[in-house]
Amino acid sequence: MLRVGLIGWRGMVGSVLLERMREEKDFSGIELIFFSTSNAGGAAPAEAGGASLRDASNLRELAACDVLISCQGGEYTSEVYAPLRQSGWKGYWIDAASTLRMSDESIIILDPVNSSLIEQGLARGVKTYAGGNCTVSLMLMAVGALFQAGLVEWLTSMTYQAASGAGAAKMIELVRQMRHLANAAQKSPSENALDLDRTLISAQRGASLPTEEFGAPLAGSLLPWIDKEMPGGQTREEWKGMAEGNKILGLHPPVPIDGICVRIGTMRCHSQALCIKLAKNVPLEEIEQHIAGANPWVRVVPNNKESSLRCLTPTAVSGTLQVPIGRLRKLNLGPQYLGAFTVGDQLLWGAAEPLRRMLGILRRHLES
Ligand code: NAP
Repeated sequence: MLRVGLIGWRGMVGSVLLERMREEKDFSGIELIFFSTSNAGGAAPAEAGGASLRDASNLRELAACDVLISCQGGEYTSEVYAPLRQSGWKGYWIDAASTLRMSDESIIILDPVNSSLIEQGLARGVKTYAGGNCTVSLMLMAVGALFQAGLVEWLTSMTYQAASGAGAAKMIELVRQMRHLANAAQKSPSENALDLDRTLISAQRGASLPTEEFGAPLAGSLLPWIDKEMPGGQTREEWKGMAEGNKILGLHPPVPIDGICVRIGTMRCHSQALCIKLAKNVPLEEIEQHIAGANPWVRVVPNNKESSLRCLTPTAVSGTLQVPIGRLRKLNLGPQYLGAFTVGDQLLWGAAEPLRRMLGILRRHLES
């Protein structure tokens, strides 16, 4: 029986992954071993069959698995992956973190878009598979077909990214901030909008608002910076768009992709406004057909108020596998410029779903 080790199952990505694996009954026919970085020896989920949590830093225990799925984060991958490989471990490593994505020995997995690259990788013995950046994966679930049809000269993406994209602790802090602001508003004697505004601004700027995680108020505000600084003024989150997007698609030469990534106070789902310079003037109807036919999860939302407010919001999409794309129209900039807005659950298609599907692809490969 295939021994599959799971590290990071308690975090945002890991817990959504477990939830999806339970829903899809992915556990049958595998032996599941749960690891922990903080609670080795503690109680594991029921799927461990009564076994306790193993120590995620124990290379011998890790090496006893045929497949390791890590949702623990980049720091953990940096600490453990190389020593594990150096110890001679030849198993399959499937990872949600960014650490190994751009390595020559890895493939970035998003099978509705790049299943042929994944299959080719398995056939030539690639053992390391990394889930893509959440915003990049969701963008490609929505418009990957336009790249594959050679219709994209360049693309910019302006993102609206949820708190949960930064992990469980950040999501909890956003709720604490919301509570803090709601309490301040409740204590305000006035229902006058300007008075309430003053009360809330003062609560947001006050020292008692919890900001240890984000380093700034997010509730009722936004943060126009995600991840580390890169050369040229980009953030690392912005850098991933072009680097990972082109690697997932296998494009040579690469198509320019860039934009500005912004954290907003939603709990779950990343949204992005896209501006695409088309390689030629293609009618809108044809573009919609390319997009709608790309995979079973993408949905073209009619460009009207009722449909946009009903279908194209984080509230509508959270917890679902659908990737709606709407507000599709030619921009005033010219007939080759396409505007679009898309939303997707970054914990599903942006993180957990490609990992669980990779395990399925791998199992079929090993059985064939
Ligand atoms: P996370 O929620 O912070 O979880 C990572 C680990 O933090 C957990 O496995 C857990 O480890 C520990 N932890 C500390 N406090 C916790 C708490 N209050 N609740 C649960 N776990 C807590 O991180 P994540 O968002 O799942 O991300 C994991 C990796 O996936 C990262 O590399 C991230 O960049 C990548 N990723 C995330 C997303 C996303 O939308 N969040 C999308 C794509 C990729 P122990 O149980 O061992 O203590």
